Amino acid sequence: MLIPPTNPSGMKPFMPGEESRYQSYTLKNLRNIPQIQKISEQRLKDIEIVGQVLPFKTNNYVIEHLIDWQNIPEDPMFILNFSQKEMLQPRHYQKIADLFKKNAPSDEIEKASMEIRWELNPHPAGQKYNIPSLDGLKLKGSQHKYRETVLFFPSQGQTCHAYCTFCFRWPQFVGMKEIKFSMNESNLLVEYIRKHPHVTDLLFTGGDPLIMKTSVLASYIDAVLDEDISHLRTIRIGTKALSYWPYRFVSDDDADDLIALFEKIIRSGRHVAVMAHFNHPRELEPLIAREAIRRIREVGAEIRTQSPLLGHINDKPELWAAMWQRQVELGCIPYYMFVARNTGAQHYFGVTLENAWHIFRDAYKSVSGLARTARGPTMSAYPGKVQMLGVSKVAGEKVFVMRMLQGRNTDHVARPFFAKYDPDATWYTDLKPAFDQDRIFFDLPWACDNSAKD
Ligand code: SF4
Repeated sequence: MLIPPTNPSGMKPFMPGEESRYQSYTLKNLRNIPQIQKISEQRLKDIEIVGQVLPFKTNNYVIEHLIDWQNIPEDPMFILNFSQKEMLQPRHYQKIADLFKKNAPSDEIEKASMEIRWELNPHPAGQKYNIPSLDGLKLKGSQHKYRETVLFFPSQGQTCHAYCTFCFRWPQFVGMKEIKFSMNESNLLVEYIRKHPHVTDLLFTGGDPLIMKTSVLASYIDAVLDEDISHLRTIRIGTKALSYWPYRFVSDDDADDLIALFEKIIRSGRHVAVMAHFNHPRELEPLIAREAIRRIREVGAEIRTQSPLLGHINDKPELWAAMWQRQVELGCIPYYMFVARNTGAQHYFGVTLENAWHIFRDAYKSVSGLARTARGPTMSAYPGKVQMLGVSKVAGEKVFVMRMLQGRNTDHVARPFFAKYDPDATWYTDLKPAFDQDRIFFDLPWACDNSAKD
């Protein structure tokens, strides 16, 4: 399948050699967006109301190169960045709208917003249980859920070039300090990895770690490389900069330094995996994004791609097929189709597991084997990464067939199991074991064996 690049009217084409100065837009300067007249006054109010609870930020690149302003409000890139009224439950929306109407003071609005946030499951998949400790000290900017991989949240990387309206890390951005992951003590991180010889992968995550200057990112990476911990084999960088600010790899002041940093890690004998978020094939079209991909790959780093399956944005098999195919053409490796997590605006974005499987299957069927590296639909749930393999019949009973791609309990990995068929289920916690033997995959609490075997 050949997918020609498109340039919907209203989007500015990227000119080779173009440089750009980053300009963010938040609730404070939303009305300064040049295309603002394309958004109705009521929609602007909705953005301001929803934006009290869930974070809002976009930038000049997204506005000029990704959003099709002739297709507002249905445009998927618009929905990806701009809050919609329906992203809050009606009672939550009304609560904030009423406060706006009576010109309530900002601290009263903030208090009401915080109460709503706590109702939106700000800590999905038991993330707080993933915080590791070192000699009794909690590493509050790390998570260690799966034995081989440690997640690190550098404190300077806890924002993004723009915010996705579906983001499951939304509490990182809205001042919920008590549950925010972040730390800047690289010595603790290094010591923790050294003491855990099963850890092969270190994932820098956020927010977006590539919001940091290269010199700051390098200070963390150098701390790890300088110690030359032999069991640490891969540095992963979780980022959406290829979509939201590809200049980061091409023409920003320290873009060359970033590429050189990747090269340095690779020269140390390690693998660099850029875990790139792409939610829609349009994000791969601008020439600057393609140039960014080329530069990363040129030094030997690999780009693996992932996205949740999102209602209103990408819930069509042809979009996934186009995205995977284009990624392969550009040298990226399709990695995960996730299910939207049970947090924030899941009621708006969520797709039933059965539908998710149909969309995955239809997309998977229509691409060549090289694009079939994607695994999905996958739930990053409390017990592990659970893949929905399909709907089938076992002993006369209609069931969901599942397996764990990752597990807190490594013994659960790659063992097929069954859940009762439920056409309305959208998340793992909606499911029930189909047979007695499947209970072990559902019964909580789960034993975590990250450190037990270290
Ligand atoms: S780029 Fe990633 S962390 Fe940032 S808002 Fe989007 S999904 Fe969330």
